[in-house]
Order: sequence, then structure tokens, then C-alpha cells
Amino acid sequence: MSIRWGRVRINVMTSVRTRIAPSPTGADLHIGNAYTALINYVFAKKHNGQFIIRIEDTDRTRFVEGSEQQILASLKWLGIPHDEGADIGGPYAPYRQSERLETYKKYAEVLIAKNHAYYCFCTPQRLSEMRKDQEAKHLPPMYDGTCKRIKNYELRIKNYELRIKNREPYVIRLNVPEEGTTMFHDSIRGDISFDNKLIDDQVLLKSDGFPTYHLGVVVDDHLMEISHIIRGEEWISSTPKHVLLYQFFGWEMPQFAHMPLLRNRDSSKLSKRKNPVWASWYKEQGFLPEAILNYLATMAWAFPGGKEIFSLDEMTAAFSLEAIQTTAPIFNIEKLRWMNGEYIRQKPDAELKKLVYQHVTMVTDEYDSLLDKILPLVKERMKTLNEFWSLAGFFFERPKEFERPVKKELLDIAKNALASLDWTHDIMEQAIRGEAAKAGAKAKDVFMELRVAITGKTVGPPLLESLEILGKEEIRKRLEKI
Ligand code: GLU
Repeated sequence: MSIRWGRVRINVMTSVRTRIAPSPTGADLHIGNAYTALINYVFAKKHNGQFIIRIEDTDRTRFVEGSEQQILASLKWLGIPHDEGADIGGPYAPYRQSERLETYKKYAEVLIAKNHAYYCFCTPQRLSEMRKDQEAKHLPPMYDGTCKRIKNYELRIKNYELRIKNREPYVIRLNVPEEGTTMFHDSIRGDISFDNKLIDDQVLLKSDGFPTYHLGVVVDDHLMEISHIIRGEEWISSTPKHVLLYQFFGWEMPQFAHMPLLRNRDSSKLSKRKNPVWASWYKEQGFLPEAILNYLATMAWAFPGGKEIFSLDEMTAAFSLEAIQTTAPIFNIEKLRWMNGEYIRQKPDAELKKLVYQHVTMVTDEYDSLLDKILPLVKERMKTLNEFWSLAGFFFERPKEFERPVKKELLDIAKNALASLDWTHDIMEQAIRGEAAKAGAKAKDVFMELRVAITGKTVGPPLLESLEILGKEEIRKRLEKI
């Protein structure tokens, strides 16, 4: 946005606008992208700004059908809403790069006209020979500048216009200055500078007419008035190319912030081999979106005062980009499980009941009153919604498998105790303790045998309460079967 100041026009960015720009090249939203989305969203909301989702689908060789829809669905499930985007439109539409090809072409030509970019006719074969040669000489893999050698610009353009007329395939490359350095300020990392000699003459427009990431991202971030570019640190080495583009176009530079990447336990980049990375996996396992967001928030940022459990609104109020740490955050799924358990415990029973219905297909609403009784028993122990079934499945069906064989003598003590009883917690407890003492066995062992016989497992919800819920008849049947 520009304003008039005296006789000059100056550019000012009045509002905060952030974005994520996922490429639809994977099965789903990567958990690392969820983390970047969260930070972008929170930062925008903190400053009453907008959060945008742009789809960067220009790499047609890696395009995955349905990926965009899945990414958007996962963001929605997580509860990170956007103000503008490929699915909902907005004032800067279209938000899908494959629908903006004319724009990139136009801007690539603007750069050609200013000699900040040039046509390159090198064939893939020549480029691969060049690369082999560089490898052999241990040189960095960079374009060798063959197509910008004709120093006389007029001559070069004439020559190239002719070749274009002859339909020779070409790409457009960034004309990186041979001297000097390119520098930018990163809100998290401070000043970063690159020697221009080491910046490649990046392809900006490919022979298929699609832009590369570098041209697309700069043109769109500018046209969509993105004020802050918050993205993963893997993009740092691309940023000098972007900075050159902003300078060549004469555009105001956005603020850059490169977030530390999430890491596996061994500090390598979070990867499919060592951790589940797709958002939908977490959904299927019964993680709650609020817990995931809370956990992701703690990755590189700490709530002032050390609070661990906090809502998105609380985070928004307390957040600052400068407080992000650059040390590699380790993604620990056990910690996330713990946090998820905390969120499950915070849920009112009625809400948790709905989630169990949605999530555990075996539990249908014919079990409504049973569920009312079971939930208070398992809520304290569940870390994910899936664990409802492993903890409480025995209420719905008799155990088909037993974790270990039942010890008959110990179980007989329990059977004797339960033979003729009122079916209440205290009476059962007294009887079992009494019978165990008579037989010279430990009550705790008798309870354990009973648990295994009734539930098939050695751990589970409180036993006597569970027996009460199952009822005398059902218990008797299960004990008879053993
Ligand atoms: N399309 C890039 C990606 O796949 C966007 C990177 C950026 O945020 O600039 O993540």
C-alpha cells in the first residue's frame, strides 16, 4: 500500500498479512507445515491482521491429485482458519499459482527488459555435462553463465529474439550480480548475508511456461501484500535470490523470519521414517486438535512464565516472533500423548462422549447410558481417543484374547468370594479380601487375576467399579468360561 507524503509517494505496510504457501506434493498436511501455519496464524491475529493460504502448485512433476483438498481439510480440523485462500477466494484471487501463469510471465519479461534476467537456451544435455564437469572439479553446482556471455545487451536480445521465433525452447534466468553481497534481516536470526558469487543464476520461468518457486513466491507475496514471511529455515538459502528479486523489481521488502525445523529425537529433520508426519495420522489415532496446536506451540516458543497448557487465544495474547528460539526443537510424540491426555481430562463428559462416538466406530448410541457410566472411569487414563477402546473395549465385548494365562487357584478365591453377594463395590471388596486372607493369598494378586479373567488385560479402569457396571450375570458368565 502506498501513501502520499508531501510530493512523494512512499510505501507503507499498514497491516500485518502472513501466509503459508503449501505445495500439493504430499499425501496431506505435514506436521511441520502445521507448525508454520500455527505461527503465521497466531502472529497475524496478534496484530489484527490476515492469514492467507496460497497453493504453490507450479511443480507439475511432483503434483499429487487431492493433496490440496487434504491440506485444507487438515488445517480446518486443526482449527487454524484462514481469511483468504484458494478455497474461499479473497481480494487478491486467484490464490492458486497454476491460475496465475500470465502474471509470472509478465514479471519475468519486466526483468528481462531491465537486464536483471536473461533467456537461456542451454539444453538439458548440456546442463548435465556442465554439472558432471563441476562435480569432477569439486566446484559448486551452479549455472556457468553461458547464455549471458554476450555482454552487449542489444545484441544478446536480438540474437535471442530470433531463437525464440525459431521456437527453440528456453528458460528465463535470474541475472545475479557477479560482485558484492546480498543481505537481509531475519526477525529470529538477525542479519544474514550471502556472497553473490555463490548465488546461482536461478531459473525463474521454466520452458513449460510455469514459474519456479522463486519467481512465483516473490511475485505473489508482493502482489498479495504479504508483510511477514514466516517459514522454515530450509528456505534461508533461497532468500537471497528473493531479496535480489525484490530489489530488481523495486518492491518493498517484507519482513523475513525463518523458523527452526522440527527434529526427530536424533536431531535429524522430522521425517516419515522416524515419526508420523501427516496430520491425518494424528486425527486417526485420536489426538485432539487443541492438544496438537498446544504442543506445536511449545516447540520453539515458550509461554512466558513456563505455562505448558494454554489455548490458542492465550498464545495469541502472549506471542512474539522475537521470542522464538533457534535451537532445534525435538518433536516428542510421548510428550504430545501426555498433553493430549491432559486435554481429554479437561473435556466435559458430554463433549468427550460425542468425541468417542465420532471416533470409536464400535461404540454406537445404543450404548449411551453404558457410556455415561464408563467415561468417568477411563477418562483419567486415556491419552488418546483410540485408547478408549483398548481400555474399555471389554465392557462391550468379552475378551477374545488374554494378555497372559489366568492362574486358576487365585481366580478360584475370587470366584468363591463372589459366589453369593450383593453386587456392590464395598461388599465385593470385603469378601475378596476376606477370602484371600483365608486362603493365605495376597488380596492384590486375587484382584489382578480377576482383572485378567474379566478384561483380558493386566491394566485398565478401576476393577470393582468395572464389575459393578458389568453386573453379576455377565461376570458370572465370563468366569464360567475360564
Ligand atoms: N511452496 C513452498 C513450500 O512448499 C513455500 C515456501 C515458502 O513459504 O516460501 O513450502
